[in-house]
Amino acid sequence: AVSVALFTADLRLRDNPVLHGALRDAPEVVPLFVVDDGVRAAGFRVPNRAAFLADCLADLDAALRERGGRLVVARGDVVAETCRVAAAVGAATVHLAADVSGYAARREERLRVALAADGRRLTVHDGTVTAVPPGAIAPQGKDHFAVFSPYFRRWDAMSLRDVLRAPRTVRVPEVRSARLPTAPGLASGTPSPGLPEGGESAARRRLRAWERGPLDAYADRHDDLAGDATSRLSPYLHFGCVSANELVHRARRHGGAGADAFVRQLAWRDFHHQVLAARPDAAHRDYRDRRSEPWRNTDALAGAVTAWREGRTGFPVVDAAMRQLAHEGWMHNRGRLLVASFLTKTLNVHWRVGARHFLDLLVDGDLANNQLNWQWVAGTGNDTRPNRVLNPLSQARRFDPRGDYVRRWVPELAGIEGRAVHRPWRLDADLDYPDPIVEPW
Ligand code: FAD
Repeated sequence: AVSVALFTADLRLRDNPVLHGALRDAPEVVPLFVVDDGVRAAGFRVPNRAAFLADCLADLDAALRERGGRLVVARGDVVAETCRVAAAVGAATVHLAADVSGYAARREERLRVALAADGRRLTVHDGTVTAVPPGAIAPQGKDHFAVFSPYFRRWDAMSLRDVLRAPRTVRVPEVRSARLPTAPGLASGTPSPGLPEGGESAARRRLRAWERGPLDAYADRHDDLAGDATSRLSPYLHFGCVSANELVHRARRHGGAGADAFVRQLAWRDFHHQVLAARPDAAHRDYRDRRSEPWRNTDALAGAVTAWREGRTGFPVVDAAMRQLAHEGWMHNRGRLLVASFLTKTLNVHWRVGARHFLDLLVDGDLANNQLNWQWVAGTGNDTRPNRVLNPLSQARRFDPRGDYVRRWVPELAGIEGRAVHRPWRLDADLDYPDPIVEPW
C-alpha cells in the first residue's frame, strides 16, 4: 500500500502530522510538493518567498534522501497533479494539512471531491499549521474570537498534542518527479540581498541560537528596534519549517518571563489564523470598520505612497523600517506597527495598499498575519483602540532611543550622533535626505 503526503505550509520532517499520518497508513509514501499554478495566479509567488521556498524544498529533499527517500515534485494545478500522482502509485489516501485561507479551503474541498471520484480518500490534519486548531476554542454561540485577551486565556489553558519525531526512514515508490525548482523558476524578479536562508535545517539553527541567546530577555527587549532581540522565526513558521506546536512546547519547558512573552506572540499568530478561518473575506475586506477618519484617494497621494514604499518620507524611523524591509524581506514588529500607522492613520491611505506592498516583499508574508495586522493598525480589525495614531517621533524616542536603528538603515543620516538623527529637519546641515512629506507633529 502507498499513501501520499501533500506538503503545503509544512515543509519539515519533525512534528509533521501530515507525514506522520501518511507513514502510519502505508509502508511507502510519496512526499509530494506541487508548484501550484493557483498560487502564482493569486499573485502570491514573489521573488523573496520564491528564494526561501527553493531553499526549503532543497533542504526537505536532502533530509528525505538521508532517510532513503526523496521529495517528489510536480507542477500545475495542485488538485489535478495530486490526483495524477495518487493514481500513478495506486495510493488509497492523500494526507494534507488543514489551513485557513479561502484558497486553502477551496483546495481542500476540490481535492476531496476529485479524489473521491477516483475512489480515494483525503485525510486532513489539524494542528499542523497552528498550535491550537482554528475553531477548537470559540466564545459561546460564535465561530471565532474577535478580541485577543479572552482568546488568549482559553488558548493558554489548552493542552497541545505531543511533538512528533522525524521519521527514521521514508520509503518512496518509483514515480516520475519534476526537478527541484530554483528561485528564478518560481518567480521572476530579483530577491532582496539580505534574505535569510530557508529550510528546516536553517530553522533548527535559528531556534537553537534563539533559545541559547535572546529568548530570556525577550519580555524586556522585543520592542528595541536596534537590539534585534526577537526570534526571526516568522519566515520558518510561514513555510512550516518548524511547527508552532513545537515552539510552544519548548518555550514552556524553557520557562521564565521571556518564554512566556514569546508564547503569547505565538498565540497572536493562532488568533489571526482563527479569525481568517472563520472570515476568509477579511483578507480583502474590512473586518469591521470603526475608523473615524475617511480614507483619502490614493491617486492624489501617489507621491506620498511612493515615498513610503521607498523609505523617503523624511521621517527617519519610518524610512529605516521600510529600507530594512526592502533589504531583508523582513521588518521588526515595532517597525511594522509604526509604518502601517503612518500610512493608514497619518496619510489615511487604505490598508490594502500597504498590505500588498508588504506581501510583495515579506518572506513571512502571510494572509492571516499580514492582512489582519494591517487591519488591526488601520482601525478596521480587532484593535480595541481603533483610532490610536502612532507618532513616529515618540515611537523613535521610545524604541530607538540612541538612533542606532536609523543610522544602520539610512546611510544619509549615519553621521548624525545620538537621537538628533530622528529630527534631521532641525539640523543646520546639508543632508541628501528628503524633508518630511507631512508636517511633523
Ligand atoms: P517574534 O517577536 O520572535 O515573535 C515570535 C512569533 O510570534 C513570530 O514569528 C510570529 O509567528 C508570531 N507573532 C509575533 N507577533 C505577531 C503578531 N502581531 N501577529 C501575528 N503573529 C505574531 N507576521 C507574519 O508572520 N507575517 C506577516 O505577513 C506579518 N505582517 C505584519 C504586518 C503588520 C502591519 C504588522 C504590524 C505585523 C505583521 N506581522 C506579520 C506580525 C509580526 O510583526 C511578525 O510576526 C514578527 O515581526 C516576526 O518577527 P519574529 O519572528 O522575530 O517575531
